[in-house]
Amino acid sequence: MLLRSVDVLVVGAGLSGSMFARELSRLDPDMDIIMIDRLADGRFDRYHRICGEAVSDRAFKELSMEPRHVRNRIVKAREIWPGDIVIEENANGFIIDRPAFLRSIHDEIRGKVDIEQSSLRSLQRERDAIIAETSSGDIRCSNVIGADGAFSTVRKNLSSDFPRQTIPVKQFIVDQPSEEGTIEFTYGQRYAGGYSWRFPCGGMSNVGFPLGCGDLPLNVVEENARFIPIGSVDPLPVSNALLLGDAAAMVNPLSFGGIRVAMLSAQKAAQALAKGDTSEYQRWWKGCGFSNESFWNAYQVSKVWDDDRMTRFMENFRGGYGLLGLTRAMLKGGEDRMVAKAFMHSFRYGW
Ligand SMILES: Cc1cc2nc3c(=O)[nH]c(=O)nc-3n(C[C@H](O)[C@H](O)[C@H](O)COP(=O)(O)OP(=O)(O)OC[C@H]3O[C@@H](n4cnc5c(N)ncnc54)[C@H](O)[C@@H]3O)c2cc1C
Repeated sequence: MLLRSVDVLVVGAGLSGSMFARELSRLDPDMDIIMIDRLADGRFDRYHRICGEAVSDRAFKELSMEPRHVRNRIVKAREIWPGDIVIEENANGFIIDRPAFLRSIHDEIRGKVDIEQSSLRSLQRERDAIIAETSSGDIRCSNVIGADGAFSTVRKNLSSDFPRQTIPVKQFIVDQPSEEGTIEFTYGQRYAGGYSWRFPCGGMSNVGFPLGCGDLPLNVVEENARFIPIGSVDPLPVSNALLLGDAAAMVNPLSFGGIRVAMLSAQKAAQALAKGDTSEYQRWWKGCGFSNESFWNAYQVSKVWDDDRMTRFMENFRGGYGLLGLTRAMLKGGEDRMVAKAFMHSFRYGW
């Protein structure tokens, strides 16, 4: 049963889908856009709370957007490494109330974009169009946007590609304050290339680590789990289907940060679609800093390092991050050089 035809179907009303719909409806108000999400109300909010909710100031600046629904201001990042190496750096960012942020975007675009609770089941290509079978009927669309997260149905239906790794992560809200303004990361062999984090979350703390790699914190008031996909796929599987954010596994394999790139990919995809040249989006992704292969290479190397090996590498930075430490690590060659290269790109592109 064919219910309706639209120009663009956005699957997923999270950060990437919502920012895409916002940008496209601004660039081309005549486009007929439907955005669907399988979750609504409390279940939608709960899903989107499973996050550290840390976003850099740079992410908002890139989008020419004021930060909204800020729970905490971030001014410092502390990294705790094996060998008693502690690095403190200035950081400029925010802990946002992500469900409230998303609701504010939905309120802003409602009227220009149809937002519905519905689940995508499958997609079929038909000449220039795509037929989407959803839980509320079939939709014929000229373009489909896969903003449906780590296990994207859009990707599974239209691409033979899949993320190189999908990491299950535990997250807890803990009734205990964190140091105000500070995001803290602890590294070590037990985290297998990842880390444990402790971020402020209003007056409480947001704590997490890869599943099976950390200890249950005290004073837990909420316990969750979600997946982080890394090792990106081609974000343009066919010329009228674009994958954004986690659906394209754009998360940085070294930092596990995905919010900035989810929002930025949405903006770039909307701009390319509005211009009628979706390949521009694919070119952006291939050429941009976020897809730099050094991040994946560094993750592959460091995930099997033991604490002693990590200490030897991080000795280069005991006094703090800087050109001297980077040069020392690069000159050692081999694995040190591979990881140092990723650090260098990380400093350049930010978080
Ligand atoms: C525990 C954890 C902590 C994190 N912390 C941070 C952090 O502090 N900073 C940071 O930068 N990144 C962080 N990330 C990564 C970040 O959360 C993701 O990269 C980001 O959420 C990607 O946004 P997205 O919109 O692409 O996908 P998602 O946020 O996954 O949104 C996908 C949406 O699609 C909907 N959907 C899925 N399937 C369907 C379907 N078939 N039909 C209709 N709708 C569907 C879902 O309900 C959901 O609303 C964290 C990730 C995890 C797991």
